[in-house]
Amino acid sequence: MRHLAHGIDRFQREIFPDRAGLFARLATSHRPGTLFIGCSDARVVPELITQTEPGELFVVRTAGNLVPAYAPGDDDGVAAGIEYAVAVLGVRDIVVCGHSACGAMTALAEGHDLSGAPAVARWLRYADASRARAAAAEAGGDVDVLVRENVSAQLANLATHPSVARALAQGSVRLHGWVFDIRTGTVADVADVADVADGPAPALAA
Ligand SMILES: [Zn+2]
Repeated sequence: MRHLAHGIDRFQREIFPDRAGLFARLATSHRPGTLFIGCSDARVVPELITQTEPGELFVVRTAGNLVPAYAPGDDDGVAAGIEYAVAVLGVRDIVVCGHSACGAMTALAEGHDLSGAPAVARWLRYADASRARAAAAEAGGDVDVLVRENVSAQLANLATHPSVARALAQGSVRLHGWVFDIRTGTVADVADVADVADGPAPALAA
């Protein structure tokens, strides 16, 4: 923990003073333009890979960047985060970002024994459609294919949430599917994102 305490101290002494104006504005204004849904993996840092400032990204991170489809009556923290970002904050873009070497996707692709982690095993059932898509592409054991298909499947789940469905129908939000490669630092578009999103996906820097 000591390095975290040192980090807080350094932030307050060296970083915060230069950003005091930004934080003063943010103290009374929360207007992020993008909902970023990523994996909880420690190596995937949304603000770092997109070089965004505090206040720009509303972030939801889950194991495997899974987004359960809308389920009426269920208490669901992910659904609440999505609804708040879209219906209350009015984000214009939603990114689902997978990544290389994802532990969740590797466990599924390689059929790891998850009997010692029953909550993880239950949670990963939300990737059943992702596995089906990868299997249909005859690449069920390929982690990279599963990572990509999982992003597409989670985008489809996202669109089942009423707040997202409404915003898509009104043309007020766009969906984007990305995969971050840890080794090279590159971000690739998931090609068939346009099947879900209304409109072409944006070009990404190589
Ligand atoms: Zn992951």
